[in-house]
Amino acid sequence: MKAFEATNKFLRGAMRRMDLTDHIQDLLIQPQRCVKVKVVVELDSGDVASYMGFRTQHNNARGPFKGGLRFHPTVDEDHSNSLASLMSWKAAVADIPYGGAKGGINCNPKHLTVGELEKICRKFVEQVHDVIGPTQDIPAPDVNTGAREMAWMMDQYSKLESFSPGVVTGKPLDLFGAEGRSEATGRGVWITATEALKRKGREVDGTTFVIQGFGNVGSYAAKFIQDTGGKVICVSDVNGGIYNPEGLDIDALIAHRKKSGTVVDFPGVDQVSNEDLLLLETDVLIPAALGHVFTAENARDVKASIIVEGANGPTMPDADEIFDEREILVVPDILANAGGVICSYFEWVQNMQYFRWDLEHTRDQLDKRLKKAFDVVYDVAVKKKVSMRSAAFIVAIGRVGKATVLRGV
Ligand code: GLU
Repeated sequence: MKAFEATNKFLRGAMRRMDLTDHIQDLLIQPQRCVKVKVVVELDSGDVASYMGFRTQHNNARGPFKGGLRFHPTVDEDHSNSLASLMSWKAAVADIPYGGAKGGINCNPKHLTVGELEKICRKFVEQVHDVIGPTQDIPAPDVNTGAREMAWMMDQYSKLESFSPGVVTGKPLDLFGAEGRSEATGRGVWITATEALKRKGREVDGTTFVIQGFGNVGSYAAKFIQDTGGKVICVSDVNGGIYNPEGLDIDALIAHRKKSGTVVDFPGVDQVSNEDLLLLETDVLIPAALGHVFTAENARDVKASIIVEGANGPTMPDADEIFDEREILVVPDILANAGGVICSYFEWVQNMQYFRWDLEHTRDQLDKRLKKAFDVVYDVAVKKKVSMRSAAFIVAIGRVGKATVLRGV
């Protein structure tokens, strides 16, 4: 099943429980626009290479389009549409004034130099600058992009239009970035995991966690979990996973990864594959890498009783049904990883006001918003006897639907 179809299957499931006509359903499912561009750059070798770039603008009933740009060989129109749709629902669940967008460039950044990446960023902005902007569509980091790429994009947009720090979020702190933005998605995963545990009468302290992915999301989530007494027994990166049933020392691991570039050669651990780690004995499982890792093939063998989706789209619809049947509590991506876009919203607000918040204020605002979103979704799930994913979609579709109707078609 393709990515957009999978997202739409979840959406249709939630929509069936709501009083929506077929026309409204289609209106909410289909993206408003998908821009596809060819990014042509001269490589350091002198060769000329071209890469396909995408920007899907899914829905802007509640505010400007918002969402990340990823650099990855899997980027295509279908993925872009799927992830853009998830952003619309994520912004609505988080109750921030944005619609949803996503995109990226089909490339493998590991094979590109810093100079080549900069050219790709600038050329991409050259091609899409008339459809993005601080009140139109605000890109952000995603897989394989970060503050550095956002700085280039902001600079290029400002050259073409006018000085516009609010055109992208996730910028470096020294260039209109926000305190707390880089930790925000991982922090949000930790907060929503804490809330999920509370609903089961438990707490992070003394609980075991397995985390797939040790990038921006996984590493910060692991750090917050460790600092509140949780035991992270396994993490991974693209090269594989490392396991220690006694718990990994996350500070030492972050320092190690900085030096060696990977987690796999960390001393005193067992090796485990990215597939096998999903089936380890643990209380909480956090997929925080790429999508589509839970399928009908492995869903029955997952041992965790709580799954917190740090990644976007890690669960395929048939796996989700199995989790539901097995009464595994799944905190869906559009809630679990919403910390990033919530903090992007804070960054944008500060950019629009040329003002700066401190870390304490940011964390306080982020925690409050996420806890409130969790409460709302959990209550709907209990009341309607549905999964948290269905509940999150019901809340989000309700909000986007209302805004759409109020604006008039
Ligand atoms: N790429 C992140 C996400 O999927 C952040 C998006 C944003 O901050 O706009 O939520």
